[in-house]
Amino acid sequence: MAGVTDADRCPGVLRPHLAQDGAVVRIRIPGGQTTAASLGQLSRIAQEFGCADLQLTSRAGMQLRGLPDPVPARLVDAVRDGGFLPSKTHERVRNIVASPLSGISGGAVDVRPFVIRLDAGLCADPHLANLPSRFLFAIDDGRGDVTGSSFDLGYRAIDQDHGWALIGGAFGIAVSEADAVALLLDLAHQFLAASQRAGGVWHVHNLPEWVRSLCGVRRTELSHLTTGTPLGPVGGAASVQVPLALLTPAQAATVEVTATGPVVITPSRGLVVAGAAQHLPSLAETGLIDDPDSPWSAISACVGGPSCQQSLINTRAYATALAQSGSSLGRTHVSGCERRCGAPAGAHIDLVAPAASDLLALAGEAR
Ligand code: SF4
Repeated sequence: MAGVTDADRCPGVLRPHLAQDGAVVRIRIPGGQTTAASLGQLSRIAQEFGCADLQLTSRAGMQLRGLPDPVPARLVDAVRDGGFLPSKTHERVRNIVASPLSGISGGAVDVRPFVIRLDAGLCADPHLANLPSRFLFAIDDGRGDVTGSSFDLGYRAIDQDHGWALIGGAFGIAVSEADAVALLLDLAHQFLAASQRAGGVWHVHNLPEWVRSLCGVRRTELSHLTTGTPLGPVGGAASVQVPLALLTPAQAATVEVTATGPVVITPSRGLVVAGAAQHLPSLAETGLIDDPDSPWSAISACVGGPSCQQSLINTRAYATALAQSGSSLGRTHVSGCERRCGAPAGAHIDLVAPAASDLLALAGEAR
């Protein structure tokens, strides 16, 4: 079984990862909930200290890459001053995804306050700093968009006042909305104890007997959406995809001047810019994708070469060539090695180097 303490190497702000192109810091943003001003501030930090683009993660967070090693203390201070590092001890366990359109359009309930309460409860509990940094909470407003992907503990709203506390995708405990945060935190404690007895594991699916032994647990039969956040105008917001998950300074600056409300980073590596539906043409001019029929809406890639030393190809160049060829392959992910970092949760075509022969034929000159 995977050991928690010796192999849990997910980066944070205070524990950077050293890649081929420099140090990488990962910033957790619970529920992907931020503001245009904060996003702009983070973009300026990236421009000052490293490679200028912000990299969106599949957990609705951000990474800054190409940084000096050691990471300058001034960068850490700037990230903290921007509100992105509220806890030194818990920064790597604040892994919470949530329905990106909650409170903007659709859903049974606005789960944004729920995410804030869960994050606060997590950070206030010293023992929960011991959760594995791969452990993920998923908070779903009832539409089934984030509980259709892999996660450890979650909440799925049924209506305004009731829902399921979820343990993995298949099991749950019926709970009132008012009691759900406390129950999730208690389940996190129980997971830690069970994990310790098992020698240290990262996920609830590693402990099937523990899951089935929980008080009140039942198998759930919930339906899920696997199509990601819709693009275009949604509830007055602008929903856009960020090609290759790299948000350029020009794109961040345009978001900053067009948003009139919160900005949400989506697990499908897009942005929902509240109140900016009428600014979609300006956002699209910077290369952000608002057309669901664009090949870019269906193509992703791991960071690949030359940034990652494991990579056998320049994944971003191949993905770009694939998009420019007008690919009709459907949902496709390009990986530089078998690890398949950042691959989407739903059905997709995996193009993995060096066996990505279809890709190589389509993008032969992109090396
Ligand atoms: S999939 Fe392989 S090549 Fe791509 S980022 Fe992950 S480790 Fe690097």
